[in-house]
Amino acid sequence: MITKENWHAITVEETLKRLDTTLLGLSWHQALARLKKYGPNKIPIEKKRTFGHRIFDQFNNILIYILLSAAVITALLQHWIDTSVILSVVVINAIIGLIQEGKAEKALEALKQMLPLYANVIRSGKRDRILADELVPGDMVLLRSGDKVPADLRLVKTANLQIQEALLTGESVPDQKHTFPVQVNTPLADRSSMAYSGTFVTYGTGMGIVVSTAKNTEVGHISTLLTGLPKLTTPLLQQMNKFARWLAIIILLFSLSIFLFGVIFRQYPLQEMFLATVAIAVSVVPEGLPALITIILAVGVTRMARRNAVIRRLPAVETLSSVTVICTDKTGTLTRNELTVQRIITSNQQFFVSGSGYNDGGKIIYNNKEVDINQHPDLALLIRSCVLCNDAELKKENRDWHLYGNPMDGALLALGLKAGIQYKDEMDIYHRTDTIPFESIHKFMASLHHDHKGNAIIFVKGAPERILEMCSHQKKNQNIESIDKNYWQSQINHLAETGMRVLAFAYCSANRKYVSLLFKDVEKNLIFLGLVGLIDPPRIGARESVIDCQKAGIRIKMVTGDHRATARTVAEQVGINNQHVLVGENLDAMDDTMLEKWVDNVDVYARTTPEHKLRLITALRNKNHIIAMTGDGVNDAPALHHADIGIAMGYKGTDVAKEAAEIVLIDDNFVSIKHAVEEARVVYENLKKALLFILPTNGGEGLSIFFAILLGYTLPITPLQILWVNMITTVTLGLALAFEPPERHIMRQLPRNPKESLFTPFLLWRISFVSFFFVCSIFGLFIYEIKSGLDIFWIRTMVVNMLVLAEAIYVINCRKIFDSVLNKEGLLGSKPVLISILLVLVLQICFTYLPAMQFFFETKPISLNQWSLIFIIALSLFLIIEFEKTIARRFLKLYSRKQ
Ligand code: ADP
Ligand code: MG
Repeated sequence: MITKENWHAITVEETLKRLDTTLLGLSWHQALARLKKYGPNKIPIEKKRTFGHRIFDQFNNILIYILLSAAVITALLQHWIDTSVILSVVVINAIIGLIQEGKAEKALEALKQMLPLYANVIRSGKRDRILADELVPGDMVLLRSGDKVPADLRLVKTANLQIQEALLTGESVPDQKHTFPVQVNTPLADRSSMAYSGTFVTYGTGMGIVVSTAKNTEVGHISTLLTGLPKLTTPLLQQMNKFARWLAIIILLFSLSIFLFGVIFRQYPLQEMFLATVAIAVSVVPEGLPALITIILAVGVTRMARRNAVIRRLPAVETLSSVTVICTDKTGTLTRNELTVQRIITSNQQFFVSGSGYNDGGKIIYNNKEVDINQHPDLALLIRSCVLCNDAELKKENRDWHLYGNPMDGALLALGLKAGIQYKDEMDIYHRTDTIPFESIHKFMASLHHDHKGNAIIFVKGAPERILEMCSHQKKNQNIESIDKNYWQSQINHLAETGMRVLAFAYCSANRKYVSLLFKDVEKNLIFLGLVGLIDPPRIGARESVIDCQKAGIRIKMVTGDHRATARTVAEQVGINNQHVLVGENLDAMDDTMLEKWVDNVDVYARTTPEHKLRLITALRNKNHIIAMTGDGVNDAPALHHADIGIAMGYKGTDVAKEAAEIVLIDDNFVSIKHAVEEARVVYENLKKALLFILPTNGGEGLSIFFAILLGYTLPITPLQILWVNMITTVTLGLALAFEPPERHIMRQLPRNPKESLFTPFLLWRISFVSFFFVCSIFGLFIYEIKSGLDIFWIRTMVVNMLVLAEAIYVINCRKIFDSVLNKEGLLGSKPVLISILLVLVLQICFTYLPAMQFFFETKPISLNQWSLIFIIALSLFLIIEFEKTIARRFLKLYSRKQ
């Protein structure tokens, strides 16, 4: 067993020896054996609650207390039937609660598994990407900026490597890393030869040997820091719970006064009055609502995940439904990020390139003829720099080419293949000694190479304006002459206007003794080589999604690091308003007030850095926008953090960005953002539907009993019957509404005002309206039958059946808030609704005709005639509500026209 050792204090050689590995990594065979021995590199999440705890939580609820005390009192009064029914209601309630909660938690757990952590390793001398879970001690891990360190590593190579270790040390400034051993007694925060699991690479690249995994890592020792599942709660849920608690208290007080009123003024027997009071309390309080909201959120989150948007923090669902601005990247989000070189421009020639994809299929064409690069030395050197100043790898495996690395570098390697210049051969000749990696802040990449003859050369590639600044000369037909910036500028604009992404290349020779590359080496006096134009077509559906979002009242802004003209053309292609374009320099020249003035009118921002994203967020926020912002790089993390909704790219995004984001897009696709917004709106609407369903039925029941007592009648429904109704309707009918698909207008309305309460005036109106009719029908039927002299047990059976039937039909009303359901889709469109109605009907038949039920609930086998009356009442309720909708629709139209 490898235990804690002073890895930081021993040399690389010693580390390799102790772990029985080499710089070429373990073999797959060795790794497998070690995986068996040491187990997966996974820190088990401790279950926060035991099963007993979870059961207890189900009972730990003010309503259940009321029910339990009712059970105790009925038991003292020796009303055993009541006691047993109340107790079984409590138990059934708890079981249902447990199941629903379990399902919701499973849904969230599944989300977590959709975002696995990967590690880049070297095994048997080859680079590969494996699940971080599969790392074993001795593995060789590659690090680059943006990575989350997957295990504790002893560093063996570093290039400007900086790691942020706040997780372990609380220190948020990144530490510079080296490979030299440090003193044995160095505190954790200063062990510069180590990279610890869970910390983040913020700059540079490196390589390290895994020295410990899973629980043996430093973070493994501090298990309290582990973030478990996202909590099953959101501001809205908390608000709802608070609301329910207040309601419970108010209702208790209200019931108490009714209790006193009944006993003192109406001389009801104490026992009956007590049970009636309980009935009111239990019937009015929407006890099923919290569980229902949880389920609705879980269903929504699962749907989003199915549509490639994984929620990392649950409150994001609510925020997403009120988003008013989406700031999106261009490359990879709106475009496919499948780059292909199409144009090459040198100081006096222009070449076309055919083919597509990351393979050798295609030709370089000059004057309608395929070129031999040996006759074009400038072109040859340019392509050589494409291949050498490159971080990707294109490998042929079973006749197919596979790309490892970023698509742009891949496209440049493919260009190399078309010209017959192979990465591997070049690297053998021009050995790479150092690099300055690409970062979106400085927008270039540089590499230093040494050949076997002792020459050193530096290649630089990057954004053309950036490279032009660095150059004083250009290459033309083997000669070096001073640079013609006007020529290049016009070529750059020309390429960018067609929507191409433009890269510039330059080089210079260096002192042969030189082995490490610094910024000052490439700042000036470079020799300009030429330009490469790459196309990156828009994603399928991007344009439609952008337009859909705009119709939904959401402004789409493109924030890209790319050239102004490229950005403008792509914006045009995907339907973003490109009348004005601001570039990073413009933004720098503006102060915050100025920016606020512009920000509403400008939707395209080019040549930006991540810092500009932060400024945009501030400006937009001051204009009361709710902002979603996408990002993928390390430097995007602050912006992702500051936006109301940070959206990270799941595929090309760094671990740092994902960690900072609320949402991760599995496919990096803008279309998925639109889907997420849509689903978030559906969640909100389904919440409203659930409220619309549950509150009036509860209200109707409670008010009916209230009036009965007030007017001195016997109760139209017994407390036990009320418990029955509540139990079977909320868990069947109410639940079915959680699965409602989006209504057609969902992406045609404005974003939800985040300050708006869930109980809009309209919602309150509809709830009162429906409650009123519920009371009328319950009470109407009750009085009508009393007048006609029917026995009270039969009347109650009728009332309960009427109530349940009315609810079962009302659930269909609730499928659409404003739209009519008097069509095939509306009536039959939802399987869950139909199934739950059927279930409820079967239960009601049992309730009415099964002797055991008749015994418990004092029901009577009512006749077919009586059923018809019940049905007619329920149906009229349904039609009245449909009628109300037509008026509401007209009213809303008038209302929106006025606005
Ligand atoms: P985007 O918003 O399109 O993702 P980036 O910030 O990734 O923009 O890139 C900005 C510019 O930097 C690009 O237009 C390109 O000119 C240059 N660039 C991008 N990737 C690289 C790279 N790997 N090496 C050199 N230059 C790059
Ligand atoms: Mg990018």
